[in-house]
Amino acid sequence: MNFMLLTRIKEIVEEKGFKSFKAKQIADGIYKQFVSEFAEITTLSKDERAQLEGESILSLEVFRVFRSQEDNTIKALLKLRSSGKLIETVLLNPKPGLWSTCISSQVGCAMACSFCATGTMGFLQNLTAEEIADQVLFWKQFIRKESIRDSESGELAKLSNVVFMGMGEPMANMNAVLDAIAELTNPEALDMGARNISVSTSGLVPGIKLLAENFPQVNLAISLHAPNDELRNKLMPVANKAFPLEKLAESIRWYLEKTNRKIFFEYILLKGENDSLELAAELVEWFKKINAPHLTHINLIVYNKTDSGHEESSRNQAREFKEYLTKNGFPATIRRNLGRDIMAACGQLVIKQNQ
Ligand code: SF4
Repeated sequence: MNFMLLTRIKEIVEEKGFKSFKAKQIADGIYKQFVSEFAEITTLSKDERAQLEGESILSLEVFRVFRSQEDNTIKALLKLRSSGKLIETVLLNPKPGLWSTCISSQVGCAMACSFCATGTMGFLQNLTAEEIADQVLFWKQFIRKESIRDSESGELAKLSNVVFMGMGEPMANMNAVLDAIAELTNPEALDMGARNISVSTSGLVPGIKLLAENFPQVNLAISLHAPNDELRNKLMPVANKAFPLEKLAESIRWYLEKTNRKIFFEYILLKGENDSLELAAELVEWFKKINAPHLTHINLIVYNKTDSGHEESSRNQAREFKEYLTKNGFPATIRRNLGRDIMAACGQLVIKQNQ
């Protein structure tokens, strides 16, 4: 694995002729104190700090920040230093004491899911592993700089969870995603728990295999959204044509056998399209093929309106759909949406020309 920032720190120390133990001091400043600039690392001498002026820690820089008025969600628009392109990342506080970030793995996305704003951008670029992991470091720095506090502890928010559910299909950029996970979990770098990281995919079978082989402790989330190929081809044309539901079920059975880890299934409820009880019954039949109700959990997501033409299901319909699944032995919950007012919720991330 290639530890990007740690490697760069060592290179900088050599280039500048600093003593080798300075690499550890710099790494501590970046990964323990979350400094935004080398000048803030007080264990370096004035002269050393002056020599590092102009060097940037992150591979991306902040472009705009949006704060929700409804909850504690914050969305950041970040500019990649390499190409100048913009990506979005979100800081979420689903409940007191729990802070999580939703990060991007690509600029745009080629999967063209019909309900997703990112899909309308098409695919523009893969992010590097460094650009992916730096989104987490960005939020750690942001929390410190802006003094974002947790309402329960009163302490600075402790960002512990990472979800690959921002812009892009992570498993279409899997090498970079795997390297980024290695960076996030590296005890010398961000030192996050693998069990606190989740990768969400539209169902790319080779990526599911790679995740299980490399990081069996990382959580897998699969966007399902339809119980049959006809409907899934409409909603998720690229992913489902490549890996139809039968193939996906086969890969899930293999994954469960290998990891014995629970899989989370995302199902976005679209009014009059995939939210009927007939389709809930089909969904139950599909889950029976996997035959592991104790290792599957269905997250029903109320659709966040964009200009895609889809409508959100009523609360009542969502509840009935959920009850049907649960009654038939497949646990489901309805997920609360955060950051809707700043277009930070699931499926709403998009870069507009005028941003
Ligand atoms: S839902 Fe995910 S995979 Fe589908 S277009 Fe959006 S970002 Fe891509």
